[in-house]
Amino acid sequence: MPVSSPVLADGAVVVQAGRIVEIGPAADLEHKYPAARFRNHPSCALTPALVNAHIHLELSHLRIPEQKNFVAGFTEWIAALIDLRAKVPGTGEEAEAAAQMVLRGQHEQGVIALGDIGNTDLGVRLAADFPGILLHFHEFLGRSAKTRRAVQDQIAGADQNRWYTAHAPYSTHPELIQALKERARRLGHPFPLHVAESGAEAEMLSHGRGELYSFLAGRHFLEQPYQPPAAIDNRGSVQYLQELGVLDEGTVCVHCVHVSRTEAQTLAAARAKVCLCPGSNRYLRVGVAPVGMLLALNILPALGTDSAASNPVLSLWREMRLLRADHPEIDPAKIFAMATLGGALALGLDEQIGSLALGRTGRLLAIPLESRLNSAEQLYELLTGNNQCLQPTWINEQ
Ligand SMILES: [Zn+2]
Repeated sequence: MPVSSPVLADGAVVVQAGRIVEIGPAADLEHKYPAARFRNHPSCALTPALVNAHIHLELSHLRIPEQKNFVAGFTEWIAALIDLRAKVPGTGEEAEAAAQMVLRGQHEQGVIALGDIGNTDLGVRLAADFPGILLHFHEFLGRSAKTRRAVQDQIAGADQNRWYTAHAPYSTHPELIQALKERARRLGHPFPLHVAESGAEAEMLSHGRGELYSFLAGRHFLEQPYQPPAAIDNRGSVQYLQELGVLDEGTVCVHCVHVSRTEAQTLAAARAKVCLCPGSNRYLRVGVAPVGMLLALNILPALGTDSAASNPVLSLWREMRLLRADHPEIDPAKIFAMATLGGALALGLDEQIGSLALGRTGRLLAIPLESRLNSAEQLYELLTGNNQCLQPTWINEQ
């Protein structure tokens, strides 16, 4: 299952020095490479490893879904998260152990790369031992002039190997978003931020009202008088970011649940990336992303589990299954492409991972197939309808 090209029955992958040099029918390649050591994987699907494009490893110990199997919505959840973070240390043994366990689970489920967002250095430390690619983004937020100045000073003196990003349009000062994006552009790294996750976000940005606005104003998070930054015609978060000049092919808009057709067109024109988190969206009851509309505009979204604070199960296999349940009309092949190639594109890693193609990593997955399958459609349906605990075998692990 190369993802970037059609499924091949009885196919083979030739790997040399850790990279794929050819894929094709096994019979032809055995003939072409007589000196190669061939390994058989009978009754298996060979697939690229998965990419979890959005997670917060440092929230792994704050398992809100275990304490509340119901939250009324996004604002109530934010309040619960803030309260929990005030009570439970954000760093230290418990946080580190929980994050390590989540990361181990990701590897066991066949994840080769993750986009990790955090406010501490935990992700940087974990990256060193992860047998794959863990891209850690240090996230900033704050609406006050004081925070903005402090972060801008920090950016000016920062280590260039550290990647910075902004939290969300509603929580981060526009000039701070612009400064962080400018740095990301200069250093050539992706710029993931939460966009249009809840309906209350556009209400706050456009009209300065709604539950999110009231909550943040009540917590004195907003400088008063508050000026809605996108104050004309309820334009929404994507249009707002476009006007800030921060949408381009390196920007990854995470969630994109509340996005209009015009905004989806804006994302497509800017070649911006989208990352969907259906499991988190379901738990937070924020709605369902317009996936069909994005695909019709040739946007191949990435998939992310988001964190254990907003998702009871961190599994990309489950994310695929939920996405299919939410959008039964979408081709399962597209959903599998989101969990592999879409993630690689979002994280700027598509030359290395995300598909079985020339030059990509020779580390791939063998997924045992219990029943006999007669078509590529059946195969995609099986893999995207899987229960949450699929544990494939890694090939060329070292
Ligand atoms: Zn998130």
